[in-house]
Amino acid sequence: MIKHVFSQLGESFYSFTQVQPLLEQRLVEFNHQLADELGIDIKDKALKSLLSGKFHDPLSLSMVYAGHQFGGFSPQLGDGRGILLGEIETENGLVDLHLKGAGLTPYSRRGDGRAVLRSCIREYLAAEAMTALGIPSSRSLCLFDSNQAVYRERPEPGAMLLRTAKTHIRFGHFEFFYYRKQMESLQILIDYTIDQYFPHCRAGDNPIKCMLIEIVESTARMIAHWQSVGFQHGVMNTDNMSILGETIDYGPYGFMENYDPRWIANHSDHEGRYTLENQPSVGLWNLNCLMRAFSHHLSKDELIEVLGHYEPELMRQYRLLTYKKLGLTLVDESDESYDVDFVRKLYVLLKKESLDYTLFFRALSNMASPSDYSIILDDVVDRVSMSKWLDLYVDKRQKETVDWNDSKIEMLKINPKFILRNYLAQQVIQEAEQGNYLPFRRLLYVLQAPFSEHVECEDLSLRPPEWAKDLEVSCSS
Ligand code: AMP
Ligand code: MG
Repeated sequence: MIKHVFSQLGESFYSFTQVQPLLEQRLVEFNHQLADELGIDIKDKALKSLLSGKFHDPLSLSMVYAGHQFGGFSPQLGDGRGILLGEIETENGLVDLHLKGAGLTPYSRRGDGRAVLRSCIREYLAAEAMTALGIPSSRSLCLFDSNQAVYRERPEPGAMLLRTAKTHIRFGHFEFFYYRKQMESLQILIDYTIDQYFPHCRAGDNPIKCMLIEIVESTARMIAHWQSVGFQHGVMNTDNMSILGETIDYGPYGFMENYDPRWIANHSDHEGRYTLENQPSVGLWNLNCLMRAFSHHLSKDELIEVLGHYEPELMRQYRLLTYKKLGLTLVDESDESYDVDFVRKLYVLLKKESLDYTLFFRALSNMASPSDYSIILDDVVDRVSMSKWLDLYVDKRQKETVDWNDSKIEMLKINPKFILRNYLAQQVIQEAEQGNYLPFRRLLYVLQAPFSEHVECEDLSLRPPEWAKDLEVSCSS
């Protein structure tokens, strides 16, 4: 079942590394739905062996890469606690199997090579939640817990997460070879990446430029999606950016609750470098770093031209998503049909009223008729201003939709009822640490279908209670 395609590149790109299982490791969750989607046969011998915790494979490896972290360049990073077990062949191409928390690797630096149950649960849930929201992401295939203590601010149970992603090649992979002036290796990596992931680019006269434009555009779309659901990655370093525009490496992320684009999800991000409002420009900054690694391959003008694809693609996607959330359609994708001022007025109100971003859009979707303002106004202090905005809104929506209910149905498919709130993650983590995974599964269940009502799980849609308002998450994971 498992192939070893990346391993054929040679040992400048990785170190062969064996998984070091945890003490009394137990499989506690397996994602049957994902296994089905990937066409993995659960009776397959190799899979069974993985699930029983037998990972021995001479070709498993930890990748080496570099990265710009919080603005500064780290010339050598790499999988400090993650092992690429190999790839599986699916209908849609190769998919990586990657085990996080698998023990020390040559790139562990001062780390212990481990991950704690808390962070594995957070990643498991986030990856599945993002996928269900329609956002490209790594996926969670299974979770192991253990009786091994791993020391962070306190001793915590160690765990491992087996995840899938189209690739684990990051911007930082290219930076690693470029800054070391290893041009031959850089060329090998470029050729590999084009052949594996952008083979259609070979048909044109400039395959590298073609690939880079696609990387720029998929990154732009991914970030537009993040903005539209209020997802803050928290550690947008270039070593955490996939070249295929998938969200990877979930750490101290957060989904915005009270509307505040300046809220800092990552408690270790003292300057607020990675706030929601900064994500679009950080994406471009990161792409700039990536372009530099190609400065021997493309001219400065060409690289600037490639980067020029970023903003229009991000804005196009963002506007489309924002209008869809409002039940409006863009007549064409040009600037003129998008009413910037109208949308800005809404955001000003959301901020002023400290409204929950998700619940506001869900309520807007649930307006029973054009005059049903109460569903919105009940939570609002400045009702006059909000009513004025609703007048504009209802007018716009009625002008373009024949049937109020039809647009309501569409809105309920894009405005989730459930997002992964930090306090909910915290609650299920505490239970899981006591060996009770039922709350985790219940939360996972609603996050995998966040647009459904799930009336029996109403509690999982609510704003945080008083005790949870100041929950903090940091890089320690
Ligand atoms: P992250 O911020 O999780 O993306 O990690 C940045 C780098 O540190 C990556 O190369 C990780 O593999 C590595 N790393 C993070 N945590 C640990 C750990 N506990 N042990 C070893 N390496 C780690
Ligand atoms: Mg990382």
